[in-house]
Amino acid sequence: MKLDLRLIKPEGNEFNFSELAQDLELAAEGFEFPEPIEVILSAAKSGDEIIVQGRISSTIEMECARCLDIFEMELNPRVQFVIQLLDSNQPEFSDADDFVILPKTTGEFEISDRIRESIILELPLKPLCYEGCRGLCPMCGVNLNETECDCTPDKTDERWDSLKQLFDE
Ligand SMILES: [Zn+2]
Ligand SMILES: [Zn+2]
Repeated sequence: MKLDLRLIKPEGNEFNFSELAQDLELAAEGFEFPEPIEVILSAAKSGDEIIVQGRISSTIEMECARCLDIFEMELNPRVQFVIQLLDSNQPEFSDADDFVILPKTTGEFEISDRIRESIILELPLKPLCYEGCRGLCPMCGVNLNETECDCTPDKTDERWDSLKQLFDE
């Protein structure tokens, strides 16, 4: 994914990208990316500064941490950074995420790393198919979202109840 800096005008331009996760070298254990990654960036040039911002649209597929069902979710992280153009011929030397320094002669700027990192940062640590997912019964293993079972409820429930009473009093 390359942003063509030569096309960017003071009034701003819009750039659309669409690339397969594998072409972006986007991979994370436990996650699949079934759809192409779409990126819409708007970039505006002001003097020697280019301001870039936009939104990434991606679909992730993963296993619910509670019920082990495979489910899909949209992930739409924002991306934004500033490019400072310099007269020197030195390559990029800023290491800040949101600030890049480039020689004025730069034609295209590779943005794949940024896009990949923005998505990785947003991946859920504990994926849940939905907030109230009831998970699997620890005793018989049925999916409690789909069916009830006759297993003895865990004793901790009662302890919580007496604690709750204590606080209510
Ligand atoms: Zn679930
Ligand atoms: Zn059960």
